Amino acid sequence: VSKPLKADLDPSKLTITLTKTPKSPPPPEQLGFGAVMSDHMLVCEYNPESGWSAPSIQPYAPISLDPACAIFHYTPSVFEGMKAFVGPDGKPRLFRPDLNMARMERSTDRVSLPHFDKDALLVLIKKLVAVDAHWIPPMRGYSMYIRPTLIGTRASLSVASSTSALLYVILSPSGPYFPTGFKPISLISMWDTARTWPGGTGAYKLGINYTPCFKPQEEAYSKGYQQILWLLGDERRITEAGQMNFFAVVQRDDGDIDLITPPLDGTILPGVTRSSVLSLASSHSPTSPLPGLPPTQRIHAHERTITISELQAHHARGALLEAFGVGTAAIICPIDRIGYEGVDMVMPVNEGLGKVGKAMWDEIVAIQEGLKPSEWSVTC
Ligand code: PMP
Repeated sequence: VSKPLKADLDPSKLTITLTKTPKSPPPPEQLGFGAVMSDHMLVCEYNPESGWSAPSIQPYAPISLDPACAIFHYTPSVFEGMKAFVGPDGKPRLFRPDLNMARMERSTDRVSLPHFDKDALLVLIKKLVAVDAHWIPPMRGYSMYIRPTLIGTRASLSVASSTSALLYVILSPSGPYFPTGFKPISLISMWDTARTWPGGTGAYKLGINYTPCFKPQEEAYSKGYQQILWLLGDERRITEAGQMNFFAVVQRDDGDIDLITPPLDGTILPGVTRSSVLSLASSHSPTSPLPGLPPTQRIHAHERTITISELQAHHARGALLEAFGVGTAAIICPIDRIGYEGVDMVMPVNEGLGKVGKAMWDEIVAIQEGLKPSEWSVTC
């Protein structure tokens, strides 16, 4: 008996069932992050016999799963975080979604969940965003957060990869990360607890990377710091800042600037914002300068190891101009204080963000919101 051919994710099979009880999006000023969901979700199931089911856009609702499912025990869970914006033309647009899809494909492979056609998923996400486009607040700084999720649903307690899976995408309108101007955050360095380690899973966006950080995060908070600067190894090299990639801006003796971020050595999540900041830094030139930066001052971008002692040394000689975290949620988040071994390194923070961070923020936001034409911005 020949087995049926396993079907891949197929947008041409999409069915759309609209809700009969549409909700009103809340007033934008009440929007925080991640608490309110839009009216619809995308759902698709994988089973080992037939492959991916026909995808469906359907009313947002709870899902029902067997309590023996892998997700409740060994927690195979992959997710992404991306945003939709409305452009001046009124069309919803995504920011570099191909990078999120490629990262999701790598994460899926890392936990042996069923593979899917990443281009097909992007087509489906665009359709979902178009259905709920009226949920994207049309004001500057507002967006709709998109959460593609893939979980293992094999109903068995045996410790093995999940051969069945549920893929779903939900949408959450969100307010600006900094509603009242840039607010720098404080970090406390931690090295006795690790977010990730060589050979571990830090380079993938998996649920298992986040849960072990909740307790250290509470400790940081109780000590009066907002997030953690994760250090790794005997040399205490900097890896990430909370759930953001870390950047330091250092003044060079020749008048130029060094922009340093840790390398993608397997312990760092390859952030979409990180990649964008690095590209923008390299693009800054006398003929096409970034907003607000001196055209003749070059920014030398470095993906290299930076230890906490190197950071301290730059700070001590007054050369540490800025430190910031980057990620989809905040885009660029200034850091004003780093606690290390009981001493605070206090950063010079002018008007919230420094010049380099502000230039990056302005440029990325202009592209995201469709104000500056760029191939990074993709209409739905
Ligand atoms: N590091 C971690 C651990 C994260 O969770 C995130 C958020 N996805 C980032 C960095 C930033 O990545 P991105 O710019 O793709 O949002």
